[in-house]
Amino acid sequence: MLKVDGVTKYYDDFKAVDNLTFDVKKGEIFGLLGVNGAGKTTTFRMIMNLISPSKGKITWNGKKIDYDITDKIGFLTEERSLLTKLTVKEQMLFYGALKSLDEQTILKRLDKLLKRFEIEEYKERKINTLSKGNQQKVQFISAIINEPELLILDEPFSGLDPINIELFKSVILELKEKGTSIIFSSHRMDHVELFCEKLVILVKGKSVLEGYLKDIKKDYKIKKVIIEGNVKINELKKIDGVTNVIKTASFYEVTIKDESYYKNVFNYLKTKDNITKFSLQEPSLEEIFVSKVGEAYGK
Ligand code: ATP
Repeated sequence: MLKVDGVTKYYDDFKAVDNLTFDVKKGEIFGLLGVNGAGKTTTFRMIMNLISPSKGKITWNGKKIDYDITDKIGFLTEERSLLTKLTVKEQMLFYGALKSLDEQTILKRLDKLLKRFEIEEYKERKINTLSKGNQQKVQFISAIINEPELLILDEPFSGLDPINIELFKSVILELKEKGTSIIFSSHRMDHVELFCEKLVILVKGKSVLEGYLKDIKKDYKIKKVIIEGNVKINELKKIDGVTNVIKTASFYEVTIKDESYYKNVFNYLKTKDNITKFSLQEPSLEEIFVSKVGEAYGK
């Protein structure tokens, strides 16, 4: 288990990460979310032991992270760091050796992974002749060639087309099934929502929300009611507890302060005889993110 315990990082006087605490268990997928500059990459670098925390500690299975442990970690960095003049095979031999793997093991794993990522034909090709998406596949393969116990993915989907996003997602889920602990950062809440169970939202290095996604959604009070049928916006807006009404092409989206106001909307709809749909919708992670980050900035 990865444990980040009361970690703070200063760059000179500037506090980039502020008293951050979370843990990631075996086979768990954890999302580190935040706007640009929130402190995600700094946190990843501290986990990888590339920089040291100013305060607090980070442990893997109870031990401080040193070179022995970083061999068991895979890191997909945001600024992609391929040696583009090498061939795919040369690159993997280099990265694998850095992770203390022998040549035979690297080549065996490489063949399997190239097949899984559908780029077997590029093994002997120089990386700078590959498309961006294929370079990203190579980068991903180099992050998992050591079959990491902990995998850190900084913006893994940036620059990928929808087909490759699906491919990356399924590989990530396969790794989770095998017990890999995975932390990833993303600006795309729809991606996070699909497969991360636990998350923290950072604003200026500080956590403003953390926990299991299902609990966060349950605890988040603002709800939406979806209505299909012939209703009037001005009547809906007058209902006690309704804070906003939006009319889309096929339905009305009514925002209520919390679930207890649901019955007020229901009572109003009882006076109508042409309602074809009425349902309470959970907030999306995107809505929660925007609201929490907004609150933290005093908006
Ligand atoms: P992004 O989503 O844009 O990658 P991030 O959440 O990863 O952002 P970090 O890169 O961790 O954010 O940066 C956090 C803050 O620390 C930023 O304000 C950044 O300017 C600052 N920072 C990062 N690295 C350094 C450094 N080496 N020296 C000084 N300040 C730094």
